[in-house]
Amino acid sequence: MATINQNYQKLAGSYLFVEIARRVAAYKEAHPEADIIRLGIGDVTQPLPQVSIEAMHKAVDEMAKAETFRGYGPEQGYDFLIEAIRKHNYLDRGIDIASDEIFVSDGSKSDTGNIQEIFGTDNTIAITDPVYPVYLDTNVMAGRTGEKQENGYYKGVTYLPSTAENCFSPALPDGHVDIIYLCCPNNPTGTTLSKAALTQWVDYAKKEDAVILFDAAYAAYISEPDVPRSIYEIEGAKDVAIEFRSFSKTAGFTGTRCGYTVIPKTVTGKAADGSRVKFRDLWNRRHTTKFNGTAYIVQRGAAAIYTEEGQKQVHELVSYYMENARIIREGLKAAGITAYGGVNAPYIWLKTPNHMPSWDFFDLLLTKVNIVGTPGVGFGPCGEGYFRLTSFGDRENTLRAVDRIKNQLKF
Ligand SMILES: *Cc1c(COP(=O)(O)O)cnc(C)c1O
Repeated sequence: MATINQNYQKLAGSYLFVEIARRVAAYKEAHPEADIIRLGIGDVTQPLPQVSIEAMHKAVDEMAKAETFRGYGPEQGYDFLIEAIRKHNYLDRGIDIASDEIFVSDGSKSDTGNIQEIFGTDNTIAITDPVYPVYLDTNVMAGRTGEKQENGYYKGVTYLPSTAENCFSPALPDGHVDIIYLCCPNNPTGTTLSKAALTQWVDYAKKEDAVILFDAAYAAYISEPDVPRSIYEIEGAKDVAIEFRSFSKTAGFTGTRCGYTVIPKTVTGKAADGSRVKFRDLWNRRHTTKFNGTAYIVQRGAAAIYTEEGQKQVHELVSYYMENARIIREGLKAAGITAYGGVNAPYIWLKTPNHMPSWDFFDLLLTKVNIVGTPGVGFGPCGEGYFRLTSFGDRENTLRAVDRIKNQLKF
């Protein structure tokens, strides 16, 4: 008899986006003429940079000839991409990362979800609340948590509340944890952690012999000079931190798929015999066993963003979304709504007026001004009373949505 992984039954259903779709569909059915604008999407809308398109066309042509055809590539990624990543994001910024500490992949969702496999199941985890759901759900699947409770919290998980009260910079846990997930700039709050705050986390990890899993998917959106782009800008981080990056939000690769993980050889964990083992070696073993490399064509497209012209095009893409963010932020302010984020990230995290529950605000926005956003509570219990709008829409829809909010909603 085949039995199931019982841990999957602890998972909450994919309630959030299913419930959003259900409510929008019901409203549309009752009001077929409604002109609904979606500011809830976590996906980009603008086309790939031209440099990536050209590089991928060229790579397709290489595939058409026996002399330049490529079959399986290195599981860890092609050197041309690894070296471009290494130089541009690390060496040029004074961070010494070796080529064999960078692992190219098909994106950060897989990497942030899979990384927990190389840790013992008895590790304790801490996650910021609210946050990208992948970290928690993959640990539930692996059996590192207890059951989900009535109040929305899983047993056995240390939640790190991130609210307006602590400027979305969570306090260190009271006791010991083994693994800490940090997402900076954060999805959904759009806020960042300061150099001082990150230093505290690195110091904590050193003292507790813990590992920080640092998701920097939105690093390209940081505009303020004093916000760290990489955890390795913090002294000592190379001993305790693993970093995840993605081309998805940086260069519009959400449908094209490319990301990478950095694991310095100095990040180690304890084996049963008391010896220290490099997590890098375990990840290399996992990657070469379970993954066969990202498509050559895609890696060519990704590497193209590190040329001078590529950097210009990526900068234009990011600026386009960040102008949307500015428009949304200012529109909300004009409507009397308090909002956070949107300066170093494409997300605006607003406080619902009059302490309205997240879902009530969702209904209000949908029915009064026909705008769809994402209820904050869907990202964790501390997201209750907040709401996420994204700047990934096109300019025209963003302007139209903000006009409606400014002119038809007043608090
Ligand atoms: C979008 C996103 C990613 C990137 O996922 P990909 O699989 O690379 O597309 C990673 N982390 C967070 C927090 C995200 O929002």
